[in-house]
Amino acid sequence: MKELALLGDEAVALGALHAGVSAAYGYPGTPSTEIMEYLIAEHERGGPLAAWSTNEKTALEAALGVSFAGKRTIVTMKHVGLNVAADPFVNAALLGIKGGLVLAVADDPGMHSSQDEQDSRFYAAFAMVPCLEPRSQQEAYAMTREAFDLSERFAVPVVIRLTTRLSHARAGVVPSEPRAQNALSKAEDKTQWMLLPAYARRRYDSLIAKQADFAAWSASHPSNKLETEGRDAEFAVVTSGLGGNYYEENLADFAASRGGKLPARLHIGAYPAPVESIRALCAKAKTVLFIEEGMPVLEEKMRGFLPPAVSVKGKLEGSLPRSGELDPDNVRVALGLAPRAALKADLPKLPGRPPQLCKGCPHGDSYEIIKQATAGKASVAVTSDIGCYALGALPPYAVPETIVCMGASVNMAKGASDAGIEYAIGVIGDSTFLHSGITPLIDAVKANTPMTLVILDNSIVAMTGCQETMLPSASMVPLLQGLGVDPSHIVVLEALKKNAEANLAAFKKEIEYRGLSVVIFRRECLEAFKARQKKAKAKAAGAAACEG
Ligand code: SF4
Repeated sequence: MKELALLGDEAVALGALHAGVSAAYGYPGTPSTEIMEYLIAEHERGGPLAAWSTNEKTALEAALGVSFAGKRTIVTMKHVGLNVAADPFVNAALLGIKGGLVLAVADDPGMHSSQDEQDSRFYAAFAMVPCLEPRSQQEAYAMTREAFDLSERFAVPVVIRLTTRLSHARAGVVPSEPRAQNALSKAEDKTQWMLLPAYARRRYDSLIAKQADFAAWSASHPSNKLETEGRDAEFAVVTSGLGGNYYEENLADFAASRGGKLPARLHIGAYPAPVESIRALCAKAKTVLFIEEGMPVLEEKMRGFLPPAVSVKGKLEGSLPRSGELDPDNVRVALGLAPRAALKADLPKLPGRPPQLCKGCPHGDSYEIIKQATAGKASVAVTSDIGCYALGALPPYAVPETIVCMGASVNMAKGASDAGIEYAIGVIGDSTFLHSGITPLIDAVKANTPMTLVILDNSIVAMTGCQETMLPSASMVPLLQGLGVDPSHIVVLEALKKNAEANLAAFKKEIEYRGLSVVIFRRECLEAFKARQKKAKAKAAGAAACEG
């Protein structure tokens, strides 16, 4: 088939389509978003179902239903999304997965757009399921296809672990012949799908019994490539994922520095980690260097397996930086090579450009109101959340005091109020509220906590590229009423400068109320507005051309 230039994310999406996927679910999150965007575009052209979900947990639960019905399904998320989906994920490992179930999880080492650097290989090991880690777009395509077969072969979910540079870089992919979708066929043995303690104990034993099969599979997997023939057995290198590419970029210089002799090497792309291959690699080693993108998963594991005489180097030991991304330069230093000469360019000194809200963003007007309403008050806590509005923590607004995880703003405000803060204000976006803010709000409703929840409703998931929210803005007030918020303390304000005086007065009134109030600041995101206008213009131009 024809070679295509695809992002790593797109290669995963195409791999899923060609593996006969029947349904795809996900929640947008950098760097994973483009997987679903590709699948949704394909769905709009008549392809298999692909739809955003309220959060990663609901996405995975929908996928479990598809698998139960015998069809293949993929769930996409960023690394922290797997925390949200952790409950069904870990439990799904005990089920008798029927239709192939694949989780494509994109990690973000270096935190380009994330609140932490966690490594999803840990999660796969924790749930005791296989994990594939591609190092090229071609592998992303092929491993996604393989993951579905593997999931059905072992009846467990399978994780594809991606990292930012692979997800967002484009390279050639040669696809192979697509496979048809599975026929509808419900799981026959219901005890494999009911985690009642008596069944769950059996299922857990079955998962433990599968570990030997997983180990045998990974030991012979072609991506776990052991190179010892003619190599220096005293210096061993273990690479994984993109670490393998950075190592190879330095290979010519490294070989030259050692009189042409290359060290013994093992590259790992399939997990559970092939422990016996690492042992074989290190049989005569005096030193072993682990080069892995993300956390020191392999280095930490192998410290307990290798003889104490082997000097283990890597991120834990300090040869490579513990945080941030790997790159050819820091891998070069870890290999003991001199740094490359820096490129010299005579550039003018550029001013710093800290990230900020778009000029005219509705969140700016809302933060102005919160700032003015709380100015001069001694006991204030403003907790915030994940979204564009997190940028309101930086000057010129500097309003939010906390940003932790999706939905945390709501009950952190409740907790601050419980602790005695007089003006406890939670700030959350509309999409984040639907994702993870509803359940904590029920706690505040039950206690009628004296706090104000601010919902910044811009009618879109702005930060990840303007995906549609699960419910339209018009649903917000009925939803809040349904949750039990007192209708007289649900206030909707239009976040416009010209309304500033009236908005300030209304907001001040609500924060003085000694019970739960919810203030919705509403105005469309500028980027969403522009995209909508552009689409309407293109449609009108198309219609005019047809008439012509
Ligand atoms: S993308 Fe939209 S919500 Fe985000 S900063 Fe820009 S205008 Fe504001």
